[in-house]
Amino acid sequence: MKIDVLTLFPAMFAGPLDESIIQRARTNGALDLKIHNLRDYTHDRHKTVDDRPFGGGPGMLLKPEPIFEAVEALAREQTRVILLSPAGRKFNQAIARELTQQEHLLMICGSYEGFDERIREHLADDELSIGDYVLTNGALPAMVIIDAVTRLLPGVLGDDESSREESFSHELLEYPHYTRPAEFRGMKVPEVLLSGNHAEIARWRAEQARLRTKEKRPDLLK
Ligand code: SAM
Repeated sequence: MKIDVLTLFPAMFAGPLDESIIQRARTNGALDLKIHNLRDYTHDRHKTVDDRPFGGGPGMLLKPEPIFEAVEALAREQTRVILLSPAGRKFNQAIARELTQQEHLLMICGSYEGFDERIREHLADDELSIGDYVLTNGALPAMVIIDAVTRLLPGVLGDDESSREESFSHELLEYPHYTRPAEFRGMKVPEVLLSGNHAEIARWRAEQARLRTKEKRPDLLK
């Protein structure tokens, strides 16, 4: 999958996407990620990307010209252009799975008070929020989405089974896990997990997933 990101803060992306599973996906070609500085699409001496809102009000807005120019340079016919915005549909595991079907994502990170509305109306195919809170800019939301999508791409996780069985994959939270020792400071691992009976273990896990979801996230069961 190819992902291009348009941001005012390319340096924020160094680190989180250069480690671990995402770095491996980049090295082995599963993810082709490029971070672009929005200021590279300006033409004035000051590399201006923002301006005051018509009608007054606090803060500055991202201007349409550099973003239109960047999208025209980077998007292809099959590109899905995603605007990061607190007003977008709320990102979740189902949307992460949906995005794995795309060949190319172009993510536009906002800053300041956000975007000139014409960017939303005429450029965006989708608008995504990572939750009901406001961050200073779209770099962290873009990184969250890139991470969640990349680990679902075929072959990225060592064992594809792990993404099929984890939280949210069946509208349930994941069941509890234990590792060695079987007893630690008097705290014992449930007997069934030591039994070697795979059918019993599967039944116990399914029941635990259901109970945990009912207790912590009953909204998922509706
Ligand atoms: N004035 C905007 C509002 O009230 O909705 C908030 C702008 S925010 C300070 C600047 C940028 O950060 C947004 O344009 C967006 O790209 C990004 N951002 C902030 N919170 C976000 C969230 N929860 N999900 C996705 N993007 C977010």
